[in-house]
Amino acid sequence: MTVFGCRICDAILTVAVSRVALPVHANQKYGNGPGSLAPALEPGTFAVNPLPSGSPWRRWAELEAGEAEALGWYAPRFGISAGPAGQVLLAPGDVRSTAIDPALVGDSACCGLDGGKPNMVCVTCGTPVAIRIDDCGLRQAVWLDSLTTRVIEHGPGPHPVLDWADLVDQRPGIPLSEPDGGWNPMWAAAAASALAHLLAASGGDPMVIPDPQVAEVFRPTLDRLVGQGNTGQERTVVLAGPGLPDTDGDFALIPEHPQTGELWPVAPPVKPVPLAWDAWRHLAFYRTPKPVGRSVPIPPEALPALLPGHRFEPDGQIFLSVLARLPEVRQPWLRAIYDRGRPYSYTFYIF
Ligand SMILES: [Zn+2]
Ligand SMILES: [Zn+2]
Repeated sequence: MTVFGCRICDAILTVAVSRVALPVHANQKYGNGPGSLAPALEPGTFAVNPLPSGSPWRRWAELEAGEAEALGWYAPRFGISAGPAGQVLLAPGDVRSTAIDPALVGDSACCGLDGGKPNMVCVTCGTPVAIRIDDCGLRQAVWLDSLTTRVIEHGPGPHPVLDWADLVDQRPGIPLSEPDGGWNPMWAAAAASALAHLLAASGGDPMVIPDPQVAEVFRPTLDRLVGQGNTGQERTVVLAGPGLPDTDGDFALIPEHPQTGELWPVAPPVKPVPLAWDAWRHLAFYRTPKPVGRSVPIPPEALPALLPGHRFEPDGQIFLSVLARLPEVRQPWLRAIYDRGRPYSYTFYIF
């Protein structure tokens, strides 16, 4: 089992947790509340952000020539983090022996904690050790500060790593729409990231999506971003992954393993386009149930609306942040798409 503790006094700060991949929706801001979003991680798990995160921030204009690319950014950002790498994400219920210190809580949040800087201290020694986030539209989270916390014990923890076949059996995916009639925010994040990878892989060629469920997610946004006047060679987008028959396609939407982060392998020349497991699993195996056992057909107007009334929109902020880290964004046609979203640096009305 893995347990984290205070680097200063060695106090235990978490329950036993198992490592999982950092989900693309880890830092999501979705809507404006009221209230926060569900935690990005399941209880009993943790994820590590390998990149610098949080304050201090550096303004894009202050970077030296070539510095941004050396840091893995290929298109301009408002600012980039110069904070510590290796911050550890947990579900808030898995944290122990810490307390929110009111003196460390900033005043920029809406109704909760927005977590620009550490606001939780180790109750044993008083050192700031973590950032608690629960503000409107943000994911409930605790981020352990890698400068003041460390691994106390290391091991597999309560959730053993599943192989692909077990994942198909045990982790059934998440539908696009929620019971309350809205779109699932995880889906907005997963689709945004996949869309950025798909556009980067495409080289600007027009894309055909034969699977109607996949097309329903990606087609409207692709049409708005790329238009339909493209005269390049048509490329086909298919699903590939565990339990699916091999199909011919130029681009394959493949699952990302939710625990290891491993990508389902595809053989060249097929280009892989990663998609979060919970979204991929739903697209790959869910089929809309057909009504059975009725002798009288139900008229369409008598059926409840199955999907939310407003259109599905991938998360613009996540789309841009993923795209900015792909070297292909330097191609002029893709940079033009990126720049459509960038001026609205806080709202990202790109779609
Ligand atoms: Zn609020
Ligand atoms: Zn301590």
